[in-house]
Amino acid sequence: MIDIVIFGAPGAGKGTQAKLLAEKYDFLHISTGDLLRQEVELGTPMGQRAQAIMNRGDLVGDDIVVPLLDRALQKRSTAPNPDSLIDPWDRERHGAPHRPEGSIIDGFPRTVSQAQTLEFMFRKLQRRIDLVVAIDVPRDELVRRIHERAAISGRADDTEEVIRHRLDLYDEQTKPVLDYYRVSGLLMTVDGSEQIADTNYRIGLAIEARMK
Ligand code: AMP
Repeated sequence: MIDIVIFGAPGAGKGTQAKLLAEKYDFLHISTGDLLRQEVELGTPMGQRAQAIMNRGDLVGDDIVVPLLDRALQKRSTAPNPDSLIDPWDRERHGAPHRPEGSIIDGFPRTVSQAQTLEFMFRKLQRRIDLVVAIDVPRDELVRRIHERAAISGRADDTEEVIRHRLDLYDEQTKPVLDYYRVSGLLMTVDGSEQIADTNYRIGLAIEARMK
């Protein structure tokens, strides 16, 4: 069991890499951006409050993001029923929940305060973060990629002005999280400026080294 945070600026490829890694290693992928977009789509009270903030490219308040993440982590931590009469090898066939080999958290933490909250949430679950992978991509390349994504995704927060704002916010509020994890010895930085497969290979090596 391994718990990983994938970290990087908007456009660094966190979501893409997290999905590939989740498939390859059978991890649960938890993306706070996806959780929020889901709430927006469902029109829940949380989603209604988050929508305008996300469209502006601002950070949604911890009072919304933290409970969403907490719920996703709790699901992941539900222990299998020890009294189950079903042979463990047969669980899948009987529809028992599939147990992933670990989790990969994408989009959280985005502030030092969120990093502290995450640590607290994991401690409550008697787990800890094993590895933080930071995908490093130069700013020019980030802007180019987000423009490319905007043409396909239709995301309201992928417009020119909002992109610049999101990158500025990353520099001001999110980048300091790197130092937080550097000090705790959990940080592994990976060059993400090349092809998706190259970055994926490098992250895979970091994960496998940590899994040993
Ligand atoms: P993402 O899909 O990770 O790019 O996130 C899209 C948007 O969701 C961000 O620009 C924020 O508005 C919001 N968001 C996602 N994760 C967080 C977080 N950890 N804290 C605050 N806002 C977040």
